[in-house]
Amino acid sequence: MTEIKIHSPATGELLGSVPVSTVDEVANAATLARSAQVEWGQRSLAERCDVLRQVKNVIIERADELSELLCQEQGKPRVEAMVHEVFNLVELIRYFTSQAERILSPEPIPLHLFKHRSSYLHWQPRGLIGVIGPWNFPFIICNGPVVVALLAGNAVMVKPSEFTPMIQDLAKDIFVQGGIPEDLIQVVHGFGDVGSAVIDNVDMLEFTGSVATGRKVAAQCGARLIPCVTELGGKAPALVLEDANIERTANALTWGGFANCGQVCASVERVLVHRAVLPQLLDKLTPKVAALTPGNAAADPSIQIGPLNNGRQRDIVQALVTDAVEKGAKVLVGGRAIEGPGYFFAPTILVDVTTEMDIANRETFGPVLPIMVFDDEEAMIEEANRSHLGLLAYVFSRHSDRAKQIAERIEAGTVMINDVLATHGMPETPWAGVKASGVGQTHGDDSLRHMCQQRHVNYDRLQFWRSELFWFPYRPGLYNLIKRFMGAVLGTGIRNRFRSLRKG
Ligand code: NAD
Repeated sequence: MTEIKIHSPATGELLGSVPVSTVDEVANAATLARSAQVEWGQRSLAERCDVLRQVKNVIIERADELSELLCQEQGKPRVEAMVHEVFNLVELIRYFTSQAERILSPEPIPLHLFKHRSSYLHWQPRGLIGVIGPWNFPFIICNGPVVVALLAGNAVMVKPSEFTPMIQDLAKDIFVQGGIPEDLIQVVHGFGDVGSAVIDNVDMLEFTGSVATGRKVAAQCGARLIPCVTELGGKAPALVLEDANIERTANALTWGGFANCGQVCASVERVLVHRAVLPQLLDKLTPKVAALTPGNAAADPSIQIGPLNNGRQRDIVQALVTDAVEKGAKVLVGGRAIEGPGYFFAPTILVDVTTEMDIANRETFGPVLPIMVFDDEEAMIEEANRSHLGLLAYVFSRHSDRAKQIAERIEAGTVMINDVLATHGMPETPWAGVKASGVGQTHGDDSLRHMCQQRHVNYDRLQFWRSELFWFPYRPGLYNLIKRFMGAVLGTGIRNRFRSLRKG
C-alpha cells in the first residue's frame, strides 16, 4: 500500500490521504533529523524555550483549525478536541518552558565518604527520539512528548496512528511556523512495519498504544538497548463507597465513562459500588447516560458524544457487551451498535457484571459502564487490584482521610479522589502506569530528564593528593585498616562499631 485513505468515522466520507513511508524513507528522515539536531542541541536551553513559546502562540492562533481536524478525523466533539488536546498541549508547553531551566540545571550529589571529592549530574540530549502514537488523542499524545524531547535538545521522528495521521502533518506545520527547524521534526506514516522501522533508527522511543504492541516495541528496543517509555492500556476501577456524594459521583462516572466515546486509557472501565448506594446511583446515572445521543460532531456543535474511531474498535466493544449479556449481565441503557454510516455505539450501562465476563477483565475502550456490586470496601479494593492493568483508579467518598487510605492501597499509577481523567491536563504530575499499563512516565519533571542522557561528573575539590590510599601499591596492613574502618564507620550500633575498631 502506498497511501492511507482517511474516512470520517461519523459518515464514512473520504477526508484525505497520506503517503505510506518506505523503510528507506524512514532512514533518510532519521539522517536529516540527526543533522538538524546538531545545531539545535547546541542552542541554549533558554533559546529552545523561546522557540517553543512561539510554537505555543501559533497553536493558540490556529486552535480552531486543530479542533476542526480532530473533530473530523478522530470523531470527538469540538469542545473535547479543544479542552483535552489543544488546551492541554498549550498548558504543557507553558509548564515545561517555565520549568526547564530548573529541571535540567546541574544537580550536586552529596558524597558520604569521599568528602574531598564532588559529584554532580548534568543532562545532555539523547539525539533522535521516536514517538509512536495511538488514535484516541492523536494530537496531545504525540505532541506532548515531541515538545519535551525538543526542549531537551533532541530531534524527533513521529509515527502517528494509521487511523488519525492527518493531524500530525498539521502539527508539524505549526511547529515549523513557530520556528522549529523543518528537518528537526520528521513525520512518517504507515502501519506497524513503519513503526518498527522508526525504532531501528532512533536513540529512544516514547510509545503509546496497546499492551500487545507495547510488548513488541519494548522487545525491539531491548534488542537495540535503547530506552523506551511505554504508555499502555487501562481498566480503571471507580470505587463508589457508601458515603459518596452520589450526584457528583454520577456526573463524574458519566463523563469519565463516555468522554471521547469511552476511548480513553483512563476511562472508568469498572464501577465498583457499595450495595447500600446502588439504587441511588442507578437512579442518578441512568437518565444522564440515556441523554447522551451520539452524532456527527463535525456537523453539529451541540453533539456531546461522537462515534468510535474505527470499525475494529466497534467490533471489540460489541463482542465484550455480547459476551457479558450471554453470561448474565443486564443492559440498563444502550447495549448495541447503531445502524447506518459511521461507527456509532449506543452509550451503555451494564449491571449484574461478574468477574467471569470479559468486560470485567479486558480493556473495553468504548462507551460502556459495567457495574459490579460489593458489600464492603475490602472486597472493592481486592477487585480493583485484581486487574493486570494499573493506569488510573478513582475513589468516591465524602471523607478524604478514608479515601486517601484506600487510594494508597490501589495498584495504579494515579488515583484520583472524587474526580476522573483530569490529571492528564496537569503536566506537572506524572502520567505512568504500573503492572501491564506501562513502564516509565510522560509528564512530570522526570519525563524531561528522561529525554536526556543523565551524565555524572566527579572531581577532586582539594587537588593536592598525589595518590589515594587504596591505589597501587597495596601497603601491608591496608586490608585490616579497611576492615576496621568498614565496621567502625558503616556498622550499626555503638557496641558493634567499637568492637570492629578493637578487633582489627
Ligand atoms: P496500537 O497498539 O494498535 O497502535 C499504537 C501505534 O503503534 C500505532 O501507531 C501503530 O501503527 C503502531 N504499531 C503497531 N504495531 C507496531 C510495531 N510492531 N512496531 C511499532 N509500532 C507499531 O494501539 P491503538 O489501538 O492505536 O491505541 C489504543 C491503545 O492505546 C489502548 O490500549 C489505550 O489504552 C492505549 N493508550 C494508552 C495511553 C496511556 O497514556 N497509557 C493513552 C492513549 C491510549
